[in-house]
Amino acid sequence: MIAVMSANCTEEEIQAVQNHIAQRGFSSQISRGVERVVVGVLGQPYPGLQDELEVMSGVAEVIRVSAPYKLASRKFHPENTVVHVGNVAIGGNELVVMAGPCAVESEEQLMATAKAVKAAGARILRGGAFKPRSSPYAFRGLGEAGLKLLAQARKETGLPVITEVMDTEDVDLVARYTDILQIGARNMQNFTLLDVVGKVRKPVMLKRGLSATYQEWLLAAEYILAGGNSEVILCERGIRTFETYTRNTMDTAAIPVVHRLSHLPIIADPSHGTGKWHLVTPMALASVAAGADGLMLEVHPTPDTAWSDGAQSLTFENFAKMMDMVRAIAPAVGKVVAPPVGQGARA
Ligand code: PEP
Ligand code: MN
Repeated sequence: MIAVMSANCTEEEIQAVQNHIAQRGFSSQISRGVERVVVGVLGQPYPGLQDELEVMSGVAEVIRVSAPYKLASRKFHPENTVVHVGNVAIGGNELVVMAGPCAVESEEQLMATAKAVKAAGARILRGGAFKPRSSPYAFRGLGEAGLKLLAQARKETGLPVITEVMDTEDVDLVARYTDILQIGARNMQNFTLLDVVGKVRKPVMLKRGLSATYQEWLLAAEYILAGGNSEVILCERGIRTFETYTRNTMDTAAIPVVHRLSHLPIIADPSHGTGKWHLVTPMALASVAAGADGLMLEVHPTPDTAWSDGAQSLTFENFAKMMDMVRAIAPAVGKVVAPPVGQGARA
């Protein structure tokens, strides 16, 4: 249930609505838009609460939100959420590209990749230090040493970084080094982890689970939002289907669906979405055309020798070519993309 306040309501009236909700045993959250303030009731309110709130001074209307997620719903927050990371805004008119290796392997590998993706116009550096791997015998990441290398790469390039956190026990550690916390597909419904990152004051990128419906995904986002962290970014990274040619089936429709249902920014990850490097550029372009707020790409100096996900990683050259094509498509959907560094002012 949400109470939409009238355009000229006072702070006292907003407070009175919140007090009333609290007296009835519920908590509330406020969304302050350009045009209106919305007070959301958290939990499962009884139907009579609607009548009680509707007659209060300053309340324009009370809407029962039929979707089980409230804070993630566009009804609660009609304007797009823009998440700020350093001087990068995700969810505005810039199409933000996050790129880097699947896993941080070495100083040499990470610094070379960071410089190459920055030169091609990437705005955020990615790289895993804690890796979810299907096999326990596969390379599972450098851990804190990898986080230190990411921090070094940020210092050398100025790019903010994003990296995955897999365990509640590592959240403080990872949050100390990274600019954005990534929740991987396999942990989308790790509800205790979602609760913990909901308490952190850093943006969180929540990847779609391997077989998650849109509703399950948005409910997972709701956990983080309900914890008090409003800086949530969603990421479509493909879902498991009957097809075996591709690693996952990239669900490009998720992009306009999320924009319709939610105010949260949505990033597309065609690397994990396809699993094959030669499909990454076409699906990146399709995602941009579908209105994605950004892209996440795996890039490696030598994909053939990568310790993880080499088959879906772009070379520096292919990444730069993809960026040029992305720059051609983005204006058609009202987005701008940073130019290659050293070639004029940022768009
Ligand atoms: C990743 O981004 O490196 C990753 C493991 O992605 P996902 O959780 O989508 O599989
Ligand atoms: Mn990967």
